[in-house]
Amino acid sequence: MEWIKEKGICQKITQYAFDQLGDAYSRFFKGQGGYPKFKKKGLNDSFTIDASGKSIPVGGVRIKLPTIGWVKTYEGLPHTTTTKLTISRIADDWYIAFAHRVETEPTAKSVDVVGVDLGVKELATLSTGVTFPNPKAYKKNIQKLKRLSKALARKTKGSNNRNKAKAKLAKHHNRVSNIRKDSLHKVTHYLCKNHAVIVVEDLNVSGMMANHKLAQSIADCGFYEFKRQLEYKTKKFVAKLVLADRWYPSSKTCSNCGCKKESLLLSERVYSCEHCGHVMDRDLNAAINLSRRALA
Ligand SMILES: [Zn+2]
Repeated sequence: MEWIKEKGICQKITQYAFDQLGDAYSRFFKGQGGYPKFKKKGLNDSFTIDASGKSIPVGGVRIKLPTIGWVKTYEGLPHTTTTKLTISRIADDWYIAFAHRVETEPTAKSVDVVGVDLGVKELATLSTGVTFPNPKAYKKNIQKLKRLSKALARKTKGSNNRNKAKAKLAKHHNRVSNIRKDSLHKVTHYLCKNHAVIVVEDLNVSGMMANHKLAQSIADCGFYEFKRQLEYKTKKFVAKLVLADRWYPSSKTCSNCGCKKESLLLSERVYSCEHCGHVMDRDLNAAINLSRRALA
């Protein structure tokens, strides 16, 4: 952590870092967390400015940071105050994050309950029949992503060219993830504004990531980000979020008669029930089953 002592770094920043280290140790000793790890420069670079209760004014297209001074922002910030600012760097772009109070904006809901199935084929399928396609941009960019990561692997460790290739890859990665986030924002905005109760499957993302075939698609859809957006937008627009337990067989159950299939291949895009003859798009069938979990 030598670099943290470099000249020109604000006292409050180092203080915050040490406070966090203290928290990490106390969590470790209580058995709530692992042993604290050293932060590595170049990986999740960020620092937090804590005004310890005093409020920092925010608003407009520039912001005054302690020591650093005025910096311009790309997007206009809401006119408000905050007590804590986090500055982070992702692929050579700088981001500023802060918490502030948001007034709720209750909206008239046209639908009471909606079930949402997050999928591989479609980004989201709603029990009402509405679907949101996956962003095409990701698929288009995946080839470039592969090419860039191969290029990186060929570079000699520690070389300048490797650093350049690394920066290029990180930049492209960030672009792809921003496209994905943007499409998720459209879905979550629509959901929270127009539906009183939203039921989604509480997916075990880390468990599914271990399955390499699925990993791509899941990373693609950004389930974690989806849930995160729903959590704060349901509060903002006053809707209710219900997380269906991850063992509930929403895909294997017939939404018409309720019987359950023993197995269902991921390639089976249509659900057809042997019991009642019901035939339906797989994702829609799952979404309808999820919507019924609102009452369970
Ligand atoms: Zn059936």
